[in-house]
Amino acid sequence: MMLPLALAALSFVRVDIATDTVTARDWADDAPTETGSLLKPFIALAYAQSHQLRYPVVTCKRCWLPRGHGRVGIEQAIAQSCNTYFDSLRGQLRDGELEATARRFGITALPKVSPADLLRAYVELTRRAAEPGVSPLLEGMKRAASTGTAKEIGGNALAKTGTAPCSHRDRAPGDGFVIVLTPAVQPRTALIVRLHGRPGSHAAQAAAGLLR
Ligand SMILES: [Zn+2]
Repeated sequence: MMLPLALAALSFVRVDIATDTVTARDWADDAPTETGSLLKPFIALAYAQSHQLRYPVVTCKRCWLPRGHGRVGIEQAIAQSCNTYFDSLRGQLRDGELEATARRFGITALPKVSPADLLRAYVELTRRAAEPGVSPLLEGMKRAASTGTAKEIGGNALAKTGTAPCSHRDRAPGDGFVIVLTPAVQPRTALIVRLHGRPGSHAAQAAAGLLR
C-alpha cells in the first residue's frame, strides 16, 4: 500500500485533445525538465527512420529489472521501459537524428522539455498512427497500460512511464513520470503526472486516480 501523498509531491497537467485545452492543472511552472524514459518512443522513431523502418530484437541481461528483460522487441521494450533496448538504439543514432525527430513533434530544446510540450508530442504521435514506424510504439504503450510499467492504469489507454532526476528543492533520488492517453483508440484525454521521489509505476497509480 502507498502512503497518502503529500499534495506538493504530485504535479499534473490534463488536456482535452480535441480542443487542445488544459482542463486540469497542478504544476508549479511549465519549466523544461529532464524527462528520462519519456523520450524513448522518439528515440525509437529516430532509429527506425535511419534503419529502413525496422526495429531490432535486443537481449537485455541487466536493466532496472535486475534479472533483465530477456529478448525484447519494440513493443515489449516500450511496455517494460527496457533501458538496455533504448540505450542500444540510441547508441546507433547519428548526431542530430534524435533532435530532428523530436523537432517534428514540437520538442525543440533537448534534453529538457516542458511538461506541456512533451504531452503535445505524445498527442501528435497518436495523430500520426499511420506514419511508418509509429504503430508498434502505440501498441507498446497500450501494453504498458494493461500489463506493463503503467498497469495501474488498466486497459483502454496508452501509457508510458519514466523516471528522471529530481528537480525539487527537497531532493529525492528521482521523480516518477507517466503520460496517459485515453481511450486507446482516438484518445480524447491526455495526462502527464510527475510524482516526487517515487518510481514511474507509482505515478501511474496516481494518474489512475486522477482519471477516475
Ligand atoms: Zn531491460
